[in-house]
Amino acid sequence: MIKLGSLKSLLSKRRDESENASEALQNAEQSQNIYQALIEERKLRQSLEKELAQKRTDLELAIRDRTKDLEDSNKQLSEQIALRQKISDALVKSQTRLTQAMDAARLGLIDWDLAHGQFYQSDFHDLFGKKELSSDEHIHNLKLLIHPTDYVDVRSAINACLEGEQSDYQLQYRAKSEEGWLWIEESGKVVDRDAKGQALRILGTRRNIQSERARDEQVRLAKSVVDHTSEGVFVLDANGCFLSVNPAYEKMIGLDSEKLVGKSIVELSDTNKRKEVYAQILAEVQTKDFWQGELLEKRYRGDYFPQWTQINAIRDRKGHTQYYAALLSDLSERKAADKKLNYLLNYDDLTKLANRNQFKDQLYRAVLRYKDEGLPFALVTLDIDRFKQFNDSFGHEASDELLREIAKRLSANVQKVDILARVGGNEFACVVTCSPNFDVMKFAERLFKTVTNQNYEIAGQDLALSCSMGVAHVPEHTQDLETLMQYAALAVQKAKFQGGGQIQLFDESLKLFSRERLEMESALRKALQRNELEVHYQPKLDLKSKKINSCEALVRWKHPTKGLISPAEFVNIAEECGLITELGSYVLKAAATQVKTWQDQGFGDISVAVNLSPRQIRDEYLKEVIEGVLSSSGISPACLELELTESVIIEDFSAGLSCLNELKALGLKVSIDDFGTGYSSLSYLKEIPADTLKIDRSFVEGLENSQAQLAIVKAIIVLGHSLNLRIVAEGVENEAQLTILSEHECDFIQGYLVSKPLSASDMETLLKSQ
Ligand code: C2E
Ligand code: CA
Ligand code: CA
Repeated sequence: MIKLGSLKSLLSKRRDESENASEALQNAEQSQNIYQALIEERKLRQSLEKELAQKRTDLELAIRDRTKDLEDSNKQLSEQIALRQKISDALVKSQTRLTQAMDAARLGLIDWDLAHGQFYQSDFHDLFGKKELSSDEHIHNLKLLIHPTDYVDVRSAINACLEGEQSDYQLQYRAKSEEGWLWIEESGKVVDRDAKGQALRILGTRRNIQSERARDEQVRLAKSVVDHTSEGVFVLDANGCFLSVNPAYEKMIGLDSEKLVGKSIVELSDTNKRKEVYAQILAEVQTKDFWQGELLEKRYRGDYFPQWTQINAIRDRKGHTQYYAALLSDLSERKAADKKLNYLLNYDDLTKLANRNQFKDQLYRAVLRYKDEGLPFALVTLDIDRFKQFNDSFGHEASDELLREIAKRLSANVQKVDILARVGGNEFACVVTCSPNFDVMKFAERLFKTVTNQNYEIAGQDLALSCSMGVAHVPEHTQDLETLMQYAALAVQKAKFQGGGQIQLFDESLKLFSRERLEMESALRKALQRNELEVHYQPKLDLKSKKINSCEALVRWKHPTKGLISPAEFVNIAEECGLITELGSYVLKAAATQVKTWQDQGFGDISVAVNLSPRQIRDEYLKEVIEGVLSSSGISPACLELELTESVIIEDFSAGLSCLNELKALGLKVSIDDFGTGYSSLSYLKEIPADTLKIDRSFVEGLENSQAQLAIVKAIIVLGHSLNLRIVAEGVENEAQLTILSEHECDFIQGYLVSKPLSASDMETLLKSQ
């Protein structure tokens, strides 16, 4: 440009000079010169112009090159700008997408810049404070806000990352929220570390998993229920293949779930029948949604068992069967329980005999059979005598053993009965059809002997037993079930009332029996108040001295209308209704007073024996009563003898023994009454502090005609003497008996041969007559 300017000024200068020269030519001489000069000038101009043009061309070229350069770099620049715009757009887009995705996933971002001690959290600030925190604040928050149980894991996981032991972590923990603990899942990853491996930056996310946890919990709960139920559960897919089974089903079928899952229930079967059955059932569930019923299932390589099966179809939204869910129970245990229940309902667990329930059922059938076919039958009831005392003295176990033994004997000896049952505590019964030649009383006797003939070895003791039996007939006595049972019971009661050890056939008079007993009871109460009781005396003859110097006091009831009533008819009642202590005291007092009178009258040292009943011996005031009687009457204790049956003592042996010893200590005598009828346990006998043994009337009766009885009586006398006991024979009615007894050195006899029991005045007359 500068060159161009200087050229221009040069040109104008030259132009001025050429004008001046042409003027000079005009002026002077030198037109030639001017011309020359002009030519020169033109040449110069031409060369200058040429130079100028050249310069211009160069310039233009240079400009053109430069412009192109500029254009090129401009283009590059705008391309770069466009690229950058594109990148930035993409970044924004991806950022937005990320944020939206995180939003949608309900994820919160965490960014922990450890190098600068800053922590950023995009979300959950309501729980964890501000968006941006210092590292210290963040650590403090974790400790403060995370559930203490979870905090331990959180801390160790984060520490492991910080220390470089771990590159990432995933944690579930509870954080304190206004509504309580909120479950959060946090994942983190170390994205930058220093040379020593210490984390410089951790990036991660947080997520609210409260509802997931709740759902998980529900699923876990449901699973645990299914896992622990005793019912089998399985789920099949649409093709009938096992998807899952619970432990109860594994146990039930005998196969592990690994062996079951994937297998088809139909194919699993090892029997064709089972295949068929399951195929049918699944087909039915397909159409009806549901099937239930009992199947005979087979355990894997095992036994068959009854299974209650319930299968439901689970359908998808379109109604296609997606799964089959089944609930199964093994019925074998329930069936066994049913059987057991049925057994318990119908059988007596102790004796294994039928129980009262089943007995009544059978009795009812027998009644129907009679009505249909005219088959007569009898009801025979058997009741163990003094069972309660036995139970009290020997305990339940021994009693149970006794009952089992009785049941065993009965079952072994009683055939052809319709039913044999234990119908009460100590009560057995049987129903027996009575064909024309059948003698029911003989049958009853056989039963009786079965129970009583042989002693029982119970609790190391050798025990004799007696029982009372009642018999009632259909149709002779009644055709009604309840009445029949009532009649048989009445007969037993009567047998018992008469002292037990007997069989009683029902008869019409027994209908009155119960009522009479009640009446008797109240009358007896009055009798005691009205002094209607009196004591009679039956003498005993001393076979050595041939003198009467002792007697037995026997009570009588002087009934205003019925006359003299035997103690056999009311002593039992008095015993049962508790009047016996009063009655017993009365007799003791009367007898002692009477004997004292006789002694005072000079009949010598007359002694009296008074009967004591079981209840009296158990009466805690007995000793007091006797002491009172001794002191009020003034007789010497040696003149008073107490008569007890051996069973009274043995039934509660230790108590009985200590009571007797106490009484003996007063100086009284003790006599064992009715010897041979009770337990007759010789081992007991030698321990009883007795003075006298009374041979029961039943052994004396017919003694003169029976070698066997004679043998027994002889044995008793020898035995008694060997134990230093005096022997009294009861019920001696004739001379023959007397002779035999004296021959065998019996000490005393008592009985009608000597005298019946006498009133006090008659006795006095007898004593006088000696
Ligand atoms: P037990 O103690 O065996 O009395 C003997 C019973 O046999 C008496 O009957 C008596 O009359 C009867 N007897 C006597 N000799 C003969 C005879 O040669 N032949 C026959 N067939 N019988 C004879 P009883 O007086 O009717 O007394 C019956 C039972 O009543 C007594 O039997 C006794 O166990 C009880 N008993 C009587 N009085 C009392 C009493 O005061 N208290 C208590 N707890 N029981 C009494
Ligand atoms: Ca007696
Ligand atoms: Ca007797």
